[in-house]
Amino acid sequence: MESVEIHKQPSCADDSDPVSLSVGQARDAIRAALISITDQETVPIRSALGRVLAADCISPIDVPSHTNSAMDGYAFAGVDLPTEDPREYRVVATVLAGQTSDHRCAPGECVRIMTGAPMPPGTDTVVMQEQVEVLPDQRIRIDARHRQGQNVRQAGEDIASGASVFGCGRSLTAADLGVLASLGFAELRVFRRPRVAFFSTGDELRSIGEALAEGEVYDSNRYTLFAMLRELGVDLFDLGVVRDDREALEQAFRQASAMADVVVTSGGVSVGEADYTKEILGSLGDISFWTIAMKPGRPLTFGRLGRAMFFGLPGNPVAVMLTFQQFVRPALRYLSGSQWPTPLVVEARARAALRKRPGRYEFVRGILSYDDAGRLTVGPSGAQGSGILTSMSRANCFILLDEHCAGVSEGDVVRVEPFAISW
Ligand code: AMP
Ligand code: MG
Repeated sequence: MESVEIHKQPSCADDSDPVSLSVGQARDAIRAALISITDQETVPIRSALGRVLAADCISPIDVPSHTNSAMDGYAFAGVDLPTEDPREYRVVATVLAGQTSDHRCAPGECVRIMTGAPMPPGTDTVVMQEQVEVLPDQRIRIDARHRQGQNVRQAGEDIASGASVFGCGRSLTAADLGVLASLGFAELRVFRRPRVAFFSTGDELRSIGEALAEGEVYDSNRYTLFAMLRELGVDLFDLGVVRDDREALEQAFRQASAMADVVVTSGGVSVGEADYTKEILGSLGDISFWTIAMKPGRPLTFGRLGRAMFFGLPGNPVAVMLTFQQFVRPALRYLSGSQWPTPLVVEARARAALRKRPGRYEFVRGILSYDDAGRLTVGPSGAQGSGILTSMSRANCFILLDEHCAGVSEGDVVRVEPFAISW
């Protein structure tokens, strides 16, 4: 994909038309402008879920730490197993998980052993208890079907001492916390979380709890943004609703950029809005005004505002969510010290025809489900206007119709990006 130098894009100083970019170009330009956070802190393991490792994790021990039985049964020396006829053995000791046994097995002897218990000296094979015939007087009999080394977990077979378990940049999952606990890590070195300040702009917006007058709407973008940022585990600063007013906006931009690594706004800072927005942003930073060949979500303002990165999202509620998912979320993951995430994309059969003209990338809110034959199918989740949030709420995926797509017939295979599985 052709890369784009954002600083060469027209800024507020230019009177030229906003630059039109493809989705891929916008993504590349954003990525090229980001610098990951390098500040670090140490957190207890329980606080490390979703945090990004700031150093490679080297195992201080073998896991498992000792060679042990994978079954409840009897431990033998593999060389002492019967090769043709069944044979009797004397049970000389019992070893439970958490215990050790010093008894060295001589030929004709075995040790009763439980799952997880260390293998006694001289043994290397476990026969599960279901395959053993128990006889009187501490004796047992087994037949010749067993292999030397069976049912034994070797020390270090999961993780060897000194091995790198997770690399720097790993975003920690629930399983990772378990692995780290099994290695005895009580604390972890992680990158500081990004701080994100966000606000809504618009004279028509009212906050929850206020009465709506004619022509006014409740501010919903601040709630979808709050929730999507929450899911990312960043530190949040909600700066409320800011009126379409030069002084108020300038003050909000200054305040936000002073406190945060990233500033996200919705509405009113797009091309076509009051010119003073451009002026203010231009005086405070190095900002590009893009028109992205995508639907929904055409206008996007991006750049540097003081020391912070700035994303000026469109005002329409679905456009806010889409541009956040496509641009802001990967950027925040990247700033957090992780890799730029690659979303999971699957193929599914269209349940309905989709009209589209080539030229721009359309993200259709869809419902992905299985048909009676167990095949993945997808169809629109409802009306696709960029202000219609209910069809976003019903959707579990975006149907991806790229720039070249000239429409989809029922039954065509389309590409689909499911939500919430992309990082
Ligand atoms: P704008 O980009 O400011 O022209 O806004 C485009 C549309 O989105 C208008 O219908 C706005 O009323 C609506 N809108 C803008 N901001 C919000 C918000 N925070 N919550 C809900 N709707 C909004
Ligand atoms: Mg507005």
